[in-house]
Amino acid sequence: MKAARKNMGGLTELRKKAEKKLMYGVTGAGTESIRPLEIEHELNVHKVELEMQNEELRLTQLQLEKSLDNYAELFQYAPVGYFILDINGIVLNLNDAACKLLGEHTNWATGRPFSVFLHSEICQDDFYRHRNLVIDSGMPQEIEVKFIKKDSAAFPALITSTIVKDEEDHFKYFLSTVNDISERKEQELKMKMALSKEVELNELKSRFISTASHEFRTPLATILLSTELLEKYNEADDEKNRKKHFQKIKSAVLGLTEILMDFLSLDKFENGAITNSPEYIDLVSLTTRVIEDINIRRQTVLYKHADKKQVVYLDPKLLRVCITNIIGNAFKYSHADSPVEVTTAFADNDQVLISVKDHGIGIPEHDKPFIFDRFFRSKTAEAYQGTGLGLNIVQKFTSVMNGHISFTSVENEGSTFVLQFPNM
Ligand code: ADP
Repeated sequence: MKAARKNMGGLTELRKKAEKKLMYGVTGAGTESIRPLEIEHELNVHKVELEMQNEELRLTQLQLEKSLDNYAELFQYAPVGYFILDINGIVLNLNDAACKLLGEHTNWATGRPFSVFLHSEICQDDFYRHRNLVIDSGMPQEIEVKFIKKDSAAFPALITSTIVKDEEDHFKYFLSTVNDISERKEQELKMKMALSKEVELNELKSRFISTASHEFRTPLATILLSTELLEKYNEADDEKNRKKHFQKIKSAVLGLTEILMDFLSLDKFENGAITNSPEYIDLVSLTTRVIEDINIRRQTVLYKHADKKQVVYLDPKLLRVCITNIIGNAFKYSHADSPVEVTTAFADNDQVLISVKDHGIGIPEHDKPFIFDRFFRSKTAEAYQGTGLGLNIVQKFTSVMNGHISFTSVENEGSTFVLQFPNM
């Protein structure tokens, strides 16, 4: 362009010179005598020169247009969404990527306030503050907001804005680039969840260690004492005492196993290793076996199965853990002389019901909402061994089996826990 202007200056000089020469030639005035042929020749030379300069100018203009086209293409097809706004935040132009983000055409967005594409009033206020900051500071700024498409679907977006000024340093327009950061946000969320899971698991493990070290002490002391006494009961008439201490050892071992099982079950669940694998099983024989295995004190159990059908389609391992826990609690939290009533049945819509009723300490009213919380133990249960994990595990396992656990309880009267599963 500069070259062209320089040439234009040269051309004017040339024209003046040529006209002057021509004028002297025609009038015959002046000191120089110039022949017409010479003038004609010179004019022709300049004409050609002019044409050449014209051509050069045209080429420069073409180049300029091409480079403008290139920039327009760069803008239009850039992989990032560009929005050009006026001072009031009205969209003046946007590129293809921006249209794609909105799920719409350019025509639809231009002329509208940029804020209409922001998800909530909070986002709009945030963007308003962001715009003022960009204008006041004159520096590019970033903000994360929720953007909405024309079909109302929202997505998280990172907006980077800057202002473009004219030659006189006045505001020309506001340029905002918009990036869909859904994937990044999803990854962040996954990482946060994994981290909090990790923290939770660590907390669980350290909590378990302190619970276990506390809860292990009593049964281990019982085992030690009973084995020491057993050594002394050598006589034939010590049979009764021997039996008593063997039972004490059994019960202590069972308590220890329960603690370990609780922790292992929860750890497995937290690691996603618990899946529902149903198979056809005999509900009555499974329940009977559980009762036999854990009824160390030989407490009276009134077991009823109110149906001819005994086969259920449930995960035997998960079901065993659930039944063991609620029957174990009924034994633990009731007196050795009081009976525990276990009922298994099928409800109308082919639901499997397992109910366990005891006449024990019951659950205080104010503790009922927390009974399924991890590590929760009633003050009234402190005299009994436990981790506060059992019911939490049962609740988790029943939900994996698409079932449900509920209870009713009256303090000092007893409790009834009911497991309910669809029998598919
Ligand atoms: P744990 O028995 O190891 O303490 P659970 O999760 O099985 O843990 O039970 C949580 C709490 O619920 C117990 O500490 C106890 O306070 C109460 N609980 C559960 N079952 C019974 C029951 N059958 N009778 C009275 N209280 C119960």
